[in-house]
Amino acid sequence: MLRSVKGIKDILPDQAAQWHHIETVARTLATHYGFSEIRIPIFEFTELYARSIGGATDIVEKEMYTFPDRDGSSLTLRPEGTAGVVRAVLEHKLLDSPTTRKLFYLGPMFRHERPQAGRYRQFHQFGVEALGIEDPLIDVEIISLLWQFFSTLGLKDLTLHMNSIGTLDDREGYVRKLKGYLSSKLDSLCGNCQRRFTANPLRILDCKVPLCHETTQEAPILIDDLSEQSRIHFQAVLEGLSALEIPYIINHRLVRGLDYYTRTTFEITSPHLGAQSTIGAGGRYDGLVQVLQGPATPAIGFAVGLERVSLLIPENTSHAQIPLFFVAGFGETGKPAAFKLLHTLRQAGIRADTDHKGNTLKALLRTADKLKADYSIILGDDEVRSEHVILRNMQTKNQDTVHFKEITQRIHRGL
Ligand code: ATP
Ligand code: MG
Repeated sequence: MLRSVKGIKDILPDQAAQWHHIETVARTLATHYGFSEIRIPIFEFTELYARSIGGATDIVEKEMYTFPDRDGSSLTLRPEGTAGVVRAVLEHKLLDSPTTRKLFYLGPMFRHERPQAGRYRQFHQFGVEALGIEDPLIDVEIISLLWQFFSTLGLKDLTLHMNSIGTLDDREGYVRKLKGYLSSKLDSLCGNCQRRFTANPLRILDCKVPLCHETTQEAPILIDDLSEQSRIHFQAVLEGLSALEIPYIINHRLVRGLDYYTRTTFEITSPHLGAQSTIGAGGRYDGLVQVLQGPATPAIGFAVGLERVSLLIPENTSHAQIPLFFVAGFGETGKPAAFKLLHTLRQAGIRADTDHKGNTLKALLRTADKLKADYSIILGDDEVRSEHVILRNMQTKNQDTVHFKEITQRIHRGL
């Protein structure tokens, strides 16, 4: 038997309703907050990701699906959405219009990682990006959208972690201090962090290896080194969150390893996901648009992993569906009349189905039960003669006779 690729999962029909629900909540809320949808391509030139995500990151170092195109150019399946959004914004000059500066996307991302619960090689993200707005209140808006997304879906026990990593200038002094602090402790860091010490020292702070965690326990704190402006920005974000009654904790370990990340960084975690506890993360990236050769443009966004969200949605959440009408036609004239009626119902926007193989009423009603139909519409030769159908409530088994002409009105009126 042929199988799917390791770490790549099917979303089966019994899960699809939940996915629709998640996506509908995402679309509706993002739209309410003034974000417009953008659909960016699944693959781009490798250079886009290499440039924007940066060489010394897990994604670019080992997680990208990269392949040569037939003309030899290098392509990569998108590992995240921000790079593609910024590329599209610059290519189509969307920065010029206030209606296209707040964007959201939904869709699959691809990373070659070790598959485990909550970590896949194809996974889905809901993300938003706001470009060109420096005001700390946009940071608050974005975090509140993320928070409302999770609460609308019924997720519980979440923690919002907040930090500010200042600007590149703010960090220069801090990174020196951090290296000074760690230089005598290199032996107490994991191999990865020993490498990071030169390539990306900030990332040592968020290493998950317990030894590294312990070693950095007393490390200098980044927010102590913020410039006055960054401090004021951070303070305004925190005050905005408090005003909206969104609870948070300050987490000094929350960092981003790349130069273009600035100021606000945040993450939302759940205690119910085991090792993969982060469901959504984001922050400011005031330097990225310039890295991609655009004008200096402040920007902020987040991305949420939807598989992890799906794992956290309470099981008893129902995804109310429109009722299903099963058309049970049998007999020489009943069957074709039923097929015509099925078509009429569907054209009238009513969810309806049948079983072409069923020839007896008993067999047809059995299928209606299996399909969990709410109602069956019974139509045999006798009914054709009298121009009536029998409407059967599949739960209560109550039956009612309805004239041909009245069926769709009756259904639309709520029966
Ligand atoms: P992690 O630390 O879990 O690897 P990350 O920092 O690589 O996460 P981001 O690039 O910030 O993740 O992506 C945002 C969100 O996307 C994550 O918080 C997570 O919910 C989700 N995510 C990232 N990688 C995967 C994956 N391989 N499978 C499923 N979800 C993922
Ligand atoms: Mg990762």
